Amino acid sequence: MSFTVAIDGPAASGKGTISRAVAAQFGLGHLDTGLLYRAVGARMLDGMDPVEAAETLNPEEIDEDALRTPDVAQAASKVAAIAQVRAALVDVQRAFARRAGGAVLDGRDIGTVICPEAEVKLFVTASAEVRAERRWKELAAKGHRVAYEEVLADVRERDARDAGRSDAPMKRAEDAVLLDTSTLSIEEAVARACAAVEAAGGDRRG
Ligand code: C5P
Repeated sequence: MSFTVAIDGPAASGKGTISRAVAAQFGLGHLDTGLLYRAVGARMLDGMDPVEAAETLNPEEIDEDALRTPDVAQAASKVAAIAQVRAALVDVQRAFARRAGGAVLDGRDIGTVICPEAEVKLFVTASAEVRAERRWKELAAKGHRVAYEEVLADVRERDARDAGRSDAPMKRAEDAVLLDTSTLSIEEAVARACAAVEAAGGDRRG
């Protein structure tokens, strides 16, 4: 029997951390769907046509570390607005969502387009300032020297593009639980997400 947890929200809202924790606590597989778009964005930056990049993408070959840069994030959000790119990535996401043993998928359109039938839907958000500060700290820890204002502008630009596109815009599904992490610790945010999963019938491991 499959069990799908759909976790959507903007950049640096905490959805990645929450998704990994939910997957670990409930013994579910986890797919960060942003990595698919990042991989396509990176191939576009290398000169490939984005539609061809999406159609020939092998998710097994994704090198996560190389994709966590501001340039790749912006490129991902640009290719993500192309309907044919999105269409090419649907099947792999739906197959993962229905894998035996259950799955957590995080992204922008999981609860609205990829898995509208998901057993649990969460929309994780936080103010743009809080998210930019988190991203800035992450980048600084990895040795990237960028100004906070630049990161904030980047976050706002990506939010506007992701929420404003006509195909599968980022938005909260009507039946998604809203989790604003602006003033929550990681532990509190994870606890609330896990409570929502448990309420929908998820079984904690052990
Ligand atoms: O989540 P992450 O920041 O890695 O996503 C990178 C970009 O990929 C987003 O800004 C968004 O444009 C796109 N994306 C998407 N739909 C998803 C996941 C990510 O459009 N399900």
